[in-house]
Amino acid sequence: MIGYCVRCRAKQEMLSATRTLMKNGRRAMIGLCACCGTKMSVAGKWDDAPEAPELKTPENSLTASRKSG
Ligand SMILES: [Zn+2]
Repeated sequence: MIGYCVRCRAKQEMLSATRTLMKNGRRAMIGLCACCGTKMSVAGKWDDAPEAPELKTPENSLTASRKSG
């Protein structure tokens, strides 16, 4: 995955690329510059990356039984 590194001021290979959501809800990738290790992000590149396990939510996390009284 290739992203733009603000420190290198050039396109660099992104390490540990992971899917994330930006504050505005748009898709983005975050990772580390392979050259200098600076954190970098690329908008709208989810199709290129494997699915991040962190985005998976357990099915029964909100279905806990609750008794009143
Ligand atoms: Zn860099």
